[in-house]
Amino acid sequence: MDLPRIFSIRESSHRIHNPFTPDKLAALGQALHLAPGTRALDLASGSGEMLCTWARDHRITGTGVDISTVFTESARGRAAELGVADQVSFVHGDASGFVSDEPVGLAACVGATWIGGGVAGTVELLSRSLRPGGLMLIGEPYWRRDVPDQETAEACHAGGKDDFLELPELIEQFGGLGYDVAEMVLADQDSWDRYQAAQWLNLRRWLDGHPDDELAAEVRAELTTGPARYARYQRAFLGWGVFALMRR
Ligand code: SAH
Repeated sequence: MDLPRIFSIRESSHRIHNPFTPDKLAALGQALHLAPGTRALDLASGSGEMLCTWARDHRITGTGVDISTVFTESARGRAAELGVADQVSFVHGDASGFVSDEPVGLAACVGATWIGGGVAGTVELLSRSLRPGGLMLIGEPYWRRDVPDQETAEACHAGGKDDFLELPELIEQFGGLGYDVAEMVLADQDSWDRYQAAQWLNLRRWLDGHPDDELAAEVRAELTTGPARYARYQRAFLGWGVFALMRR
């Protein structure tokens, strides 16, 4: 059970595996006014940057669960580096179906709603760990513009246009699930570039060092066509944000 290796090659230099910059992640942490000691659960926690920096900046505690051994190791290293290893812990495992032993004040899934079979299922999954009055964080893509064809949808990592909503409809979906959208921080095209363009340099450096690896041809092909494809489709069409929800 592990994340396919190509992901950790692409995102080897990333602490944040989503289109947020450190500034946006910090802005979200400040916007939530978390009480010191707030307990958090982060499903698909990646390299743990959210939990680790918020433990340092807002004195929260918490647990992250992620299926990637590489990212989970990075998260543990980051906790030690920031001096918060006594506040946060990282579990390697499948987060689908994961419910915390004790209710938490902050339950998050940022950029991995497939673990609950979509937004609705992930909201339901997180609700099982959340204490009454707690905050839920969902990180999710949305369409910035009307999607003209299937090619555009697929170039944005969607199976089809219906996989994502536009921003107003996504916000209404949370309402329909019985939650207030109490805060949100959105990615922008520059922060998307920090996530996506940073992958090209990772891929290029990896390729230079591993010309005979079994993934080399795949990486070469991605590097050749990926940047223009990103500029043509994803950068233009795909938005992303983290939404803070409170049950009505
Ligand atoms: N929330 C993190 C990571 C987002 S990237 C951040 O914002 O930085 C998506 C993450 O989902 C990856 O770290 C990947 O390893 C993880 N993942 C994918 N499927 C998973 C599953 N079934 N259970 C737990 N983690 C999963």
